[in-house]
Amino acid sequence: MSVENKCKRCGTCCENGGPALHSQDISLIEKGLLAFEEIITIRKGELVDDPVTKSIAPAKNEFLKVKGSKGSWSCTFYDKSRNQCSRYEHRPFACGVLKCWDTKEILDLAGKDLLSRLDIIKENNPLTQRLIEHESLFPVPDLKGISRTISRSSKKTIKKLERMCNKDIAHRIESVDTFHLCVNLELFYFGRPIFEMLTPLGFDIRETASGIKLKFR
Ligand code: SF4
Ligand code: SF4
Repeated sequence: MSVENKCKRCGTCCENGGPALHSQDISLIEKGLLAFEEIITIRKGELVDDPVTKSIAPAKNEFLKVKGSKGSWSCTFYDKSRNQCSRYEHRPFACGVLKCWDTKEILDLAGKDLLSRLDIIKENNPLTQRLIEHESLFPVPDLKGISRTISRSSKKTIKKLERMCNKDIAHRIESVDTFHLCVNLELFYFGRPIFEMLTPLGFDIRETASGIKLKFR
C-alpha cells in the first residue's frame, strides 16, 4: 500500500469536525456507546459545509453529529496529545467510511440515512413534546436570506431577530429548569441557540439585564 492510499493518522478529518450520525449508528446509542450528551443537533436551515458542492449551504434536513470540543468543531473524541480517536473501536459509521485519499464513498454517503432527534429519543421521553414545540415556535430563520439583505439600517429586521433570539432563550431556560438539563443535553434536545447562528453573519451579541441585544457590524 503506498503512502497515498492509507491513513497517515494526521487527525485532520477529526479536527475538521465530528461525524454526522447515520442509521448504522443507532446500535451505538442503543448499547450506550454514544450518549445524547455527546451529540449536537444541527437543525434544518443551519448553515453547514456541503461536502458535495464544497460550499456553505442551509441544512436540507435536521441531522445529528458528534459534538465539538473546547469551543471548536474538532471532534470531542479526538485525543490530540496521542493523535488518536478515543472511541476508535466504537466510532460512528462515517468515520470508517472516510478515506481522504479517495472520497467517493464518503461523498456517496453524505446526506443519506441521517439520524434525527426523533429517531433516537424513546417514545415516552417527556422532552419529546417540548422539542417539537420548540421547533415549531423557533425554526431556524432564513440565514442565507438574512446574510444577503441585512445592513446596519435594517433596524426593524434586527429588532425582530432580537425578539426571536430572546424568546428562543426563554423557552430553553424554562426547559432546562423544568427538566434539569445540562448544557450538553440542551444542545442535543434544542440545537444551538439562534443568536449563535447569527454571529458568523456579522452580528455582535451583547447580554443585558433585559436580554440579549443584536448589533449588525
Ligand atoms: S483519513 Fe486522512 S485526514 Fe483523516 S486522519 Fe487519515 S490521513 Fe488524516
Ligand atoms: S469519532 Fe474518532 S475517528 Fe471519528 S471524527 Fe471523532 S475522533 Fe475522528
